[in-house]
Amino acid sequence: MVDAAYEKLAGALNARSTAFPAVKCDEFYDLVSFLFTPEEAAIAVAMPLGNATVEEIANNLPNKDLKKLAGQLETMADKGLIHIRERDGKKLYEALPFVPGITEFQLMRGIVDERHKKIAMLLRDYAKAMIKSFMSADPPKLESSAPGKKVAVDKEIEHKSTIVPFEELKGLIMKTDYISVGTCICRHQAALLGKPSDKPVNNCMILGESAQFAAERGFTTRMTKEEAIKRIEEAEDAGLIHTFANSPDLFTNLLCNCYKDRCMIVRGISKSPVPSMAVNARWVVNIKEDDCTACEACIPRCQMDALKMVDGKLVREEMRCIGCGICMWVCPTDALVLEPRPAGKIPLRS
Ligand code: SF4
Ligand code: SF4
Repeated sequence: MVDAAYEKLAGALNARSTAFPAVKCDEFYDLVSFLFTPEEAAIAVAMPLGNATVEEIANNLPNKDLKKLAGQLETMADKGLIHIRERDGKKLYEALPFVPGITEFQLMRGIVDERHKKIAMLLRDYAKAMIKSFMSADPPKLESSAPGKKVAVDKEIEHKSTIVPFEELKGLIMKTDYISVGTCICRHQAALLGKPSDKPVNNCMILGESAQFAAERGFTTRMTKEEAIKRIEEAEDAGLIHTFANSPDLFTNLLCNCYKDRCMIVRGISKSPVPSMAVNARWVVNIKEDDCTACEACIPRCQMDALKMVDGKLVREEMRCIGCGICMWVCPTDALVLEPRPAGKIPLRS
């Protein structure tokens, strides 16, 4: 029989984000019961949306022992189940959604052992079961619940993935005080399941306040701005798309560098009939025809199949282009330029 705390956990996870929805099924319970003890699940369920003090969390629990609860919250932070920040000398606790959050923290340390192999397997099995249930004739309705909504949550909390081309990303990194880097969770999961990648793996980045939390808890390692830019250059070289997941309502500013053979999100975007509408795509590449020598070097770089030759000329399909700029990196004549997506054709989620 499933513990009642795990039953309620699905609603609490969905209240925070439905980027990787919590759907009740055997595989969901296998995963959450491996990550959370029943007591930890009950604490996560009791945590209000947004930041909460230990007293506020205790208000929603039968056991009001603050010292014990504070210790349990520390353990949960070390396990990557919650986030902790300090404000005016007081600790504030925030429960995490599956993505971005719990999933990343389970694998960002890059550890190879039996426990992490098991986590990789449980995540894979749950992702398959969740997708299958959504494809079924009777897809699940997502439960969403969290007590004492203490932040303004009348608006929908939406997980946004934004494509950030190299030059823009460099600017963002230069403006960021704290940057930390961990192992790419997609490629690490694949490696744990026996499918290693030939692309660089140490480029899953967190920027800002959450980067400090992640580094101090050993999920990631702090880097200088110069080291971070070098890591991004390596990713660009390897043809990895830079995707930024951020939301003012969630804990993190997470920068993924990945590709469709290993990343469920990039693969999902590439399979969309209109990739530029499946993600926050604010740029589009244009071809300077006079400079293009039709060498075709850019075509295999594009993971969205937005580039092709027609009658000896390079052609770009505007609505397939997500403006990642990965094609530009290899052009010998600088014939590709990124431009803001024209007004009137702005993707729905921008
Ligand atoms: S055409 Fe270039 S910028 Fe557009 S999606 Fe393909 S690789 Fe990215
Ligand atoms: S790499 Fe540059 S020159 Fe070669 S086909 Fe693409 S745009 Fe043209």
